[in-house]
Amino acid sequence: MKKLKIFLTNIFIATTLTSCQADENPIKVLETAPKEPTEKIMKSEEEWKKILTPEQFRVARKAGTEPAFNAVYKQFAKQGDGDYHCVGCGSKLFHSKTKFDSGSGWPSFYDVASNENVVTKVDNSHGMERTEILCGKCDAHLGHLFTGENYGNPTKNRYCVNGIVLDFVPSDKEKKTDEKTEK
Ligand SMILES: [Zn+2]
Repeated sequence: MKKLKIFLTNIFIATTLTSCQADENPIKVLETAPKEPTEKIMKSEEEWKKILTPEQFRVARKAGTEPAFNAVYKQFAKQGDGDYHCVGCGSKLFHSKTKFDSGSGWPSFYDVASNENVVTKVDNSHGMERTEILCGKCDAHLGHLFTGENYGNPTKNRYCVNGIVLDFVPSDKEKKTDEKTEK
């Protein structure tokens, strides 16, 4: 049974990697911080499909995983100061000051921007026991939390996030929303 599970997991990973290889969707950079919801956001799958791209829907609403070291990750690695918000509802999830290079190929943070906006759940899928991280407001799947690792950060937590579920608001944009700074 365990072998079958590992086998199926490998097939799943292989399929995921090949099917998403062509995805070049970058992290959306917003001019201003989105309006954050004060209450839980509940939408039907059809409604989510209107808001999210097919890849965002697969990751955020179906607990999918983006390929490591993809275009989104490369963009993430180069981004400066700012905040990362949920693509589904706009909630602020992470600050750039807690991001670090874990070498995993996925955006990594050692802490959350808000304990209310990033929540955890036990995930026993794919024959593994992991801690899933979700948006506290719209239940979007964000990635997984790994603990007890020592990267020399202020915490031993690694929030391993799919960059495709993040919108980025550069901090200079937050301060000078009236100034257009196009690159
Ligand atoms: Zn959300």
